Amino acid sequence: MVVLIVNVNQFARSFAEHLDSKDPLKKYKAEFYVKDNVYYLDGNSLGILSKRSEQTVLTILNSWKEYGIDGWTKGEYPWFYFSEKLAEKSAPLVGAKPEEVILTGSTTSNLHQLLATFYKPQNIRTKILADELNFPSDLYAIKSQIALRGLKTEDHLVLVKSKDGHTLLEDEIIEGMKEDVAVVILPSVLYRSGQVLDMKKLTDAAHERGIIIGFDLCHSIGAIPHALHETGVDFAFWCNYKHLNGGPGAVGGLFVHEKHLGKIPGLLGWFGSEKSKQFNLETEMTPSTTAGAYQLGTPHILSLAPLFGSLELFNEVGIDAIREKSLKLTGYMMNLIDHKLRGFDFTFGNPIGESSRGGHIYLVHEEAARICKALKKERVIPDFRMPNGIRLAPVALYSSFTDVWETVQILYSIMEKQTYKLFDNQRDVIA
Ligand SMILES: *Cc1c(COP(=O)(O)O)cnc(C)c1O
Repeated sequence: MVVLIVNVNQFARSFAEHLDSKDPLKKYKAEFYVKDNVYYLDGNSLGILSKRSEQTVLTILNSWKEYGIDGWTKGEYPWFYFSEKLAEKSAPLVGAKPEEVILTGSTTSNLHQLLATFYKPQNIRTKILADELNFPSDLYAIKSQIALRGLKTEDHLVLVKSKDGHTLLEDEIIEGMKEDVAVVILPSVLYRSGQVLDMKKLTDAAHERGIIIGFDLCHSIGAIPHALHETGVDFAFWCNYKHLNGGPGAVGGLFVHEKHLGKIPGLLGWFGSEKSKQFNLETEMTPSTTAGAYQLGTPHILSLAPLFGSLELFNEVGIDAIREKSLKLTGYMMNLIDHKLRGFDFTFGNPIGESSRGGHIYLVHEEAARICKALKKERVIPDFRMPNGIRLAPVALYSSFTDVWETVQILYSIMEKQTYKLFDNQRDVIA
């Protein structure tokens, strides 16, 4: 039987409900602590708690209660092998072999470790190429690594400029890959505009020029698929508390391509040892031959615990299905905004095309800071980014099409009634 839907109004709530009814990931919303009538669109900054993560935290707390020191080798998740086990579970999300990944540190500390290893200024090849839109912490880390080599940051950090303040052109990045560049550091997805960079094109271009290239995956892991091994990226690093819902301060992750395994990391610590030798406690370290070598001290067990539950969920659903729904959600949201909020001076700072759009949209408006405050008052959780951007991330695992529809109606009402004028146009301490 062919069912013809006539007079479908794609801007009506019933259409959102229709999209929800066809959504194969619909059932996963119940796995998360989403509050009724709260539209949480900030999962790209801090993902929310899932019931599975809560459970693994409780199990791991219990192993401490039960076993004390023996928890390192006993219980359902022996702590000594935690980071490696979680690396195995993260590998499919980044398109890596399990031995190329380790969960450790934070985005910033992992970038320090990777630069300590891969940034070896020699002869004329002494510079680091990055971009002016990258997350500031990455730029701070790069500058301090340059300074640690006794070099001047003004001459040795080259920043690719953005023409529109939101996006980068791959060809301009490649033009920046000159013979004096030693390492390139780029985001896979830009944190404000959500632009996806073409990792393959950039990696090939860097390698043709004899340059090492590494990517920051903070805004892409858990939102889009990756093929780090196949692409030949030298290294990558990320946090696990955004799309991966690992909880505030969750331990981060890093990838080192197989071709570099066996190299001695720039920074050594005993948890980077070959595991069978670690407790020999010798003065000479035997580093692991996997990416595990890049660990430093004792893993933060309680900040890794939620990831067992969370990564299980991601592996069950599969990153391709997540990406497919995420694109539908952001596409639908842009459609509604375009229709309903015309005339209110919003522009999209995010790329429109599916291949270059990440997991969130970025609305630009002069009054962005106070529009965000008004949204929060009305139970929509966006985030504000300096100077004038509103990031909205409908998340595949726990946002519905109806949530998107409701959000756009609330935004319309705030603009129409000008209730945003009741707030100051200033960012809060955390924004
Ligand atoms: C969130 C984020 C960070 C945060 O670094 P931490 O060390 O995890 O605090 C770094 N880089 C990018 C691109 C980010 O989005």
